Amino acid sequence: MGKGKVALVGAGPGNPGLLTVRGRQLLEQADVVVYDRLICDDVLDHAPKAKKIYVGKERGNHSVPQEEINEILVREAGEHSLVVRLKGGDPYLFGRGGEEAQVLRQNGIPFEVVPGITSALAALAYTGIPVTHRETASSVHIITGHAKAGELPEIDFAALYRTKGTLVFLMAVSTMEFITTGLLDAGMPADTPAAVVENGTLPTQRKVTAPLGHMAEAAQQADVQSPAILAVGGVCALEEELDWFSRLPLFGKTVVVTRPARRGGTLGDRLRELGAQVISFPCIETTPANLPQVCDVLERLASYGWLVLTSPQGVESLFQALDQLGKDVRLLAPVKIAVIGTGTAKALEARGLRADYMPEQYDGVHLAKGLIPHIQPGERLLLLRAQAGTPEVTKILEQSSIDFDDIPCYTTQTLCPENREETEALLRKGKVDWVTFTSASTVEGFAACIPQADRYPFTAACIGASSQKAAGEKGYAAIQAQNATIDYLLAAILEEESHE
Ligand code: SAH
Repeated sequence: MGKGKVALVGAGPGNPGLLTVRGRQLLEQADVVVYDRLICDDVLDHAPKAKKIYVGKERGNHSVPQEEINEILVREAGEHSLVVRLKGGDPYLFGRGGEEAQVLRQNGIPFEVVPGITSALAALAYTGIPVTHRETASSVHIITGHAKAGELPEIDFAALYRTKGTLVFLMAVSTMEFITTGLLDAGMPADTPAAVVENGTLPTQRKVTAPLGHMAEAAQQADVQSPAILAVGGVCALEEELDWFSRLPLFGKTVVVTRPARRGGTLGDRLRELGAQVISFPCIETTPANLPQVCDVLERLASYGWLVLTSPQGVESLFQALDQLGKDVRLLAPVKIAVIGTGTAKALEARGLRADYMPEQYDGVHLAKGLIPHIQPGERLLLLRAQAGTPEVTKILEQSSIDFDDIPCYTTQTLCPENREETEALLRKGKVDWVTFTSASTVEGFAACIPQADRYPFTAACIGASSQKAAGEKGYAAIQAQNATIDYLLAAILEEESHE
């Protein structure tokens, strides 16, 4: 067995969408990930099976010395086939990636370097500053403002000024006064535009702009914290015209998403695209249940006229039962299929099946009422749904003397996510604007995890009537989507925000 390989991978500036394709591929294959501070969980999630080793450096306090990181890389490469060394931004820009590569070479360990999107460029792009611009700047210079403890950085300010280019300083929060004074002393005009970007590319991004003469003071007043970059030059004057990120409709808003993790992706992604900070808080878990009984009714399917499905989980359980029986969709041939809405219809379509009936309004009441006229005399219904499905559906069927069997095919349990305490702290401080609920069971799960949530000032964004009813019963201020889809849910949030 030869030694493994190490990949020095740039994770990008913080926004998980700014990881490269190659970086993601390597993370997916990694046995070990050795990572720094400022690497977000969403990026690490691409390597769910890898052993994670944190070697983060706290500012002014190198928690793991570089020699030790080098040793870790050599040791892990000796034991595993792929070690990913994940670094913020680009690994070769102020990331000591070069030193690590040298150590790997000296030890005969093969390595690959995956460049990353550096914060030096990305934080500015996200704040409306192109680093070069015709007639304003024809060069860009990236400088470290970092210095050894107790010392000041050695910077040739006169030379930098002579370049007439855009100057970008990293690690410059604590040395900002020194840098701006240095530039002014070198003759740079005090009215040269300048900007500081904190948490660039993240939903928490902040920008502070001022002429060079006031920049250090303005940054201090705004209490700018690391990570932040300082940019100086004419291009900084474009920030207002070209800012796009902070103009996104949900920028500055924090949204808690309570969907189960494996289906949360799309809603969370959509909210992020709208600029929101998304906190994933999957507080329920569904598991297929009652398999023998489901199998049993499937074998007697010909005695029913309609199969009624009210959620994608129901579809999942149905197919699990078919698998169990060693059968396939052909077993469903005798029945027509009714679904509650587009989510369930899509889950069916993914299995090659088209629903025969879907109501206009995607909820249980409309499903039951709308389906009744389509039921032929004597036709029986098979409902495959959650253990504690809403009684409204069955009540309506009973009132119309429709014959049905209501078979539970999955259960829903409350699950308290690991980030419960942090999330509650944010709620308590009034820092959560929205909590999204895509079913009544997510409301129950959320209330079970955070029993005092009704005391906190957030709005519940509910997908349908039953989730809104549940939220109202818990005492949450709630709004309801016009129809039970993610699109309408987002539209309802945007509509509400536009009134503010
Ligand atoms: N290799 C990294 C830089 C490492 S040095 C890169 O290419 O981006 C760490 C410095 O990068 C921080 O002190 C800060 O100046 C800058 N930085 C990193 N992430 C940032 C972010 N999201 N917003 C602003 N500056 C950031």
